[in-house]
Amino acid sequence: MFDFKIINFLIELIAVLLLAIGIKGLSKVSSARNANRIAAIAMGLAAIGVLLNSQVTNGISFEAWTWIVIGTFVGSSLGFLVSKRVPMTAMPETVALFNGCGGMSSLLVALGVSLFSIESSDAGLATLLIKNLSISVSVFVGAITFSGSIVAMAKLQGWLSTPLWTQSKFRHLLNIITFVIALTSFISLVGDGISGLWLLVISSSILGIGVTLSIGGADMPVVISLLNSYSGVAAAAAGFVVQSQLLIVAGAMVGSAGLILTQVMCKGMNRSLVSVLFGGTLSSNLGKNASKTEYKNITSCSVEECALTLEAAERVVIVPGYGLAVAQAQHTLREVTRLLESEGIDVNYAIHPVAGRMPGHMNVLLAEADVPYDQLLEMDVINPEFPATDVVLILGANDVVNPQAKNDSTSPLYGMPVLDVQEARTVFVVKRGMSAGYSGIKNDLFELDNTSMVFGDAKKVLGDLLIELKELGIGRKA
Ligand code: NAP
Repeated sequence: MFDFKIINFLIELIAVLLLAIGIKGLSKVSSARNANRIAAIAMGLAAIGVLLNSQVTNGISFEAWTWIVIGTFVGSSLGFLVSKRVPMTAMPETVALFNGCGGMSSLLVALGVSLFSIESSDAGLATLLIKNLSISVSVFVGAITFSGSIVAMAKLQGWLSTPLWTQSKFRHLLNIITFVIALTSFISLVGDGISGLWLLVISSSILGIGVTLSIGGADMPVVISLLNSYSGVAAAAAGFVVQSQLLIVAGAMVGSAGLILTQVMCKGMNRSLVSVLFGGTLSSNLGKNASKTEYKNITSCSVEECALTLEAAERVVIVPGYGLAVAQAQHTLREVTRLLESEGIDVNYAIHPVAGRMPGHMNVLLAEADVPYDQLLEMDVINPEFPATDVVLILGANDVVNPQAKNDSTSPLYGMPVLDVQEARTVFVVKRGMSAGYSGIKNDLFELDNTSMVFGDAKKVLGDLLIELKELGIGRKA
């Protein structure tokens, strides 16, 4: 006979190790793709491990097994389809949706155990207390994660806007009242594992909505990584509920990784977590700056002029932004930079930590087009290099190159670290018009003497640039 306990232990151990290796590998662009695959295998093994765990599945009926198999098949297929079809620009809302699913799973596990499990009469007081506490944490954090993530997804998807009343101080009062109700029901649930259960589900769900609804603008990615961390905490608590060490370890890893990411993003935007959670939207601060959104001295130039300047340059820095991702122009960009490099021009890419719409967005985009990793330079490395740069080519980036963040203390972006592109000799900004970036504010860079706008879709402009450069004879040596 098989000893399922040993097999289960081995599977869980391998899953935990693979998950740790996967998370570690995600910290480098070069290893991220494989790390993601490793982490996915770990999750698959984890699911098998839980099903082989006799403490979890002991005594369940054939019918229940059928539902488990159907659920696993449907869930995996949906996850696979979504990940294949979702465009890179819609990744933040997808991550929010997946976080929400994680929160909901932990909530459902805790609900199931609280409602249907019968505790053996010889269970000690401490065991009961740990179980009730785990159920309460799982319900509380799971419900907040679920409702908060769904609101975040709906806002990013454009299905939900930020209601005006959520920008008043009144929302704090509502959130405090909901929190007190949640806390009271939490305490009574810890007491006996059932009282206050539904009140806790409802109040925590409302709290998740109440806190997330008021947040918007550039703060949303921070909230999503925080919710990701919450989903880990909820999973760890669910691990205590069903006594799965694997779930506890995996949940703790996700919880801490999400927290570190939240901190990194707050640093990237120079915002404290408290101001993100309780400060309202960036756009609510825009009132003060509303009169400062008109442009006066804009210089625009043709693609041909841009090509001539690039041809004469020795050092070029590319600044990719959200617009490059929207235009899916990364491959055309790579063709352009290959041409420039073939002429001995030094080309690098300036990567702002929050360029695009999700952490690492630009790294992923450029890796897709085979841009060498060592040419992707982080903000702290590239900023001192701008004074010695001949041409900066900004492609669909806006907020991350806005000097207001340094020069204008009334700007909503004030304090956010930005790329000092204005220090370069010539700056070209490729965008379709004069629309604002994600924060919705004017960009003073566009009015500077050394800045020229090249209007058009990033892919079209880069395609034309490629033709112009070839006509100038660039790349013939290659
Ligand atoms: P951005 O400030 O949002 O600006 C993007 C610019 O791209 C726009 O001004 C737009 O101008 C242009 N654009 C759009 N489609 C284009 C196309 N097809 N071709 C050429 N240009 C196009 O982008 P960013 O500089 O990358 O800054 C990112 C912002 O998003 C920051 O505020 C950041 O805090 C926030 N954010 C970041 C994350 C993250 O985790 N990375 C997540 C969410 C939000 P036109 O319409 O005039 O073309």
